[in-house]
Amino acid sequence: MTKKCIYCKSEISDNSVIDFCDKCGVGVWGEKMFKAIVASMENARDSNNLELFNNTSRSLNMSKL
Ligand SMILES: [Zn+2]
Repeated sequence: MTKKCIYCKSEISDNSVIDFCDKCGVGVWGEKMFKAIVASMENARDSNNLELFNNTSRSLNMSKL
């Protein structure tokens, strides 16, 4: 199943830890912040810390509102 960017609906990698493309992520948070967010979410996923991952995901979704 293909994931799609929640902002621009373009296709993103299935194994992406985020629900939006790089372009939109950088547009929302800026390049530096975006990379930090992706890195921390990848760390959470890689360490199987799903609770932290979900919390991070939820706060990101809220921060876009
Ligand atoms: Zn996008």
